[in-house]
Formats: sequence, C-alpha cells, structure tokens
Amino acid sequence: MDATQLLDRMQLLAPEMVAIRRQIHANPELAFAEHQTSDLVAEKLAAWGYEVHRGLAGTGVVGTLREGTGTRRLGIRADMDALPIVENTGLAWASRRIGCMHACGHDGHTAMLLCAARYLSEHRGFDGTLNLIFQPAEENEGGARVMIEEGLFERFPCDAVFALHNGPGIPVGQMAIREGAAMASFDRVTITLTGVSAHGAMPHHGIDPMQCAASIVLGLQSLVSREVNAHKAAVITVGSLQSGEVYNIVPERAILKIGVRALDPAVRDQIERRLKAFVQAQAESYGLKCEIDYIQKYPVLVNHERETAFARQIAVDMFGEDKVVQRDPAMGSEDFAYMLQVVPGSYVVLGNGTGEDGGCMVHNPKYDFNDRALPLGASYWVSLAQRFLA
Ligand SMILES: [Zn+2]
Ligand SMILES: [Zn+2]
Repeated sequence: MDATQLLDRMQLLAPEMVAIRRQIHANPELAFAEHQTSDLVAEKLAAWGYEVHRGLAGTGVVGTLREGTGTRRLGIRADMDALPIVENTGLAWASRRIGCMHACGHDGHTAMLLCAARYLSEHRGFDGTLNLIFQPAEENEGGARVMIEEGLFERFPCDAVFALHNGPGIPVGQMAIREGAAMASFDRVTITLTGVSAHGAMPHHGIDPMQCAASIVLGLQSLVSREVNAHKAAVITVGSLQSGEVYNIVPERAILKIGVRALDPAVRDQIERRLKAFVQAQAESYGLKCEIDYIQKYPVLVNHERETAFARQIAVDMFGEDKVVQRDPAMGSEDFAYMLQVVPGSYVVLGNGTGEDGGCMVHNPKYDFNDRALPLGASYWVSLAQRFLA
C-alpha cells in the first residue's frame, strides 16, 4: 500500500484518535502518577489483541503483538505524563485538574501510538514482534531510565527503538530529523556557600557569601565562552540565587541552583570538572565553606546512523522529500536518550503547526497538541513498523 492510501485509511480513524487525545488532555496526570492514562492505554491495547504488561516504572505499559515467524523485534515509545502548569487555553477539552496540564503534547503522542496500535492489529502486514512502550515521567523524572532499570529491554528485547515528539513552529505534514547528537544533556547543580553573618554596618566581622555568589554567577559563563571549544554547544544557566532577607545584615548563606546542558558527553564532563574546581576556588578565595551537589540528569540524545537513515526514508516516502527537513540540535533534553544508550534507534520531530495553528511552544499555558498531526504520526508509526518488520 502506498503512503496516500495509508493516510486515507488513517483519516477514517481520526475521529476516534481525536476523542482519545482530548480525553487524555482533559485528565492530565503528573510524572509517575499516570494511573488513569495507563488504565486507558492498557484497556485499549488489550481490546485490540495485544499482550499487555503493566507495572514497569509503576504506571508504564508495554503492549506486545506478534505476527508470523519473523525474529525481528521493534520498540516504539510514547510518553504519557503532563506538567505542573495551569492551563489557559479556554478549550472545551481543557484540563479538569487545576495546576496540571498536557503542555508538551504527550496526550497526542499517546493517542497516535494507540491509533497505530489499533491499525496494526487489524491490518497486520508485518512479520515479527512489535513492542509498544508507553512510559511515565518523561518530564524531569526519567521514567525511561526507571523502565530500563526494571528490565524493559531484558523482558522485551528490541533490535531498534523509535520515538517522536511534536514540534510547534514546524508546519503540519513536515518532519525534522537529525543524525547524531540531537538533544542536550541536562545536569542540576546546587551550590551552598556558607560564611559568617554580621551587622551590615560592620561587614568585617563576618564573611559574606553574597559577594562570592555574585562573582560565581558572572564567572561561570567564562567556562562556556573561554574553555569549551567554540564549535561545541553548551549552556550554563543560573536559575536561582537565594541569599539574605534584609538591608542591614550580611547573610550567612547563599544558595545557587544551576542548569548545565551540553551536546557532547566529553564537554558535559569537562564542564562538571571545571565548574566544581572553579566554584571551590572562588569559595576558598573568599574564605567560605562550599558544598556542591552535582547531579547528572538526562544524557545527550544521540540518534544512531542506520536507524536515523531508516526513519528518514519512512518519512520521505510518507510526507515527500521536501517535507523532511534537517533538524538543528536542540539544547532541550529528552529521557528517550536513556533508551538510545542501550538500543539503537532514532527520535524525530513531527510538525505541530505554525502561528495560530499549533505554533504555540510547549510548556506554555496556551499550548495544545494539533489534532491534524494525529493521523500523520500514526501513519508514520504504521509504515515504520511494517517496513522494519517486513
Ligand atoms: Zn516537555
Ligand atoms: Zn515532551
């Protein structure tokens, strides 16, 4: 079947897909608490004849479908969690839970993979094992890592694993793909500087952590501008500096919260090493005590060469050569990176639209997943599954 026929058939499933998407959207759930969403996914998969496995990372669901005698095994991942944001879209299907919102389009990712699941169970057209992975907690909490630690790929071995994310600002019907490092690593650093409090009129009786903190905020940027190779991307953002309360007291403590991102694991390690040394030396030079809590969160997302070429070919055949664009690396992070560390695969971006029609950026109270992208994403999954498991 050619791409047009598949897209036409998928359009017939669009009303159901939109209904599922809006149901999930109206009932968002935060990381590791996706109970209703997980139930919905499991019920649908079971009804369509999938073997359903629950409990990995708590709310994770894996649906397995076998066909023929083929030995190839494919994994496709969708994420299910929402964000702690107060929705402000005014839509009929807006969140019914104040302070929780599908502001990253994971409702759409889940709905389109479910729809592909239904289509593949009804029409088959593949030979091998299909593992559909619905993961919790993509946002910040690393649900993918937990699923892997709890045996995801031992219990459901995959020769390759694929995922997609919607991309506001990219027209519906386009896909953006990049081989190699596509999304940045993300680390969280908390620095606590402890000095000696004093009367503001007699600072010589104390040791002021505030001045050192200010110096660190400014000095840290030189790690990027003077020490990291100018061809390599890195971002250091001081997101919080808390110290003191009033005009006339030298505070005892200053706390900095810092996010570090890089597109190269070596640069990531370089910054960790140098940031620690720099901060320690600064604190020492001011006579302060210093504690550094440096937590490596998501790794760099690296798309594998062969699987990315395969994904690109599927996209070109589905959407047309001129609709598949080269993606710039992004400094955002994605926990699918953990899966790509253990199984080859590729993560692509599906256009969510521009301007009024799906152009609002993710993690914004006005964002909504573009329902017009649902049949396109589902068709991409069907085509990818049928050809990977040909
Ligand atoms: Zn997000
Ligand atoms: Zn997301």
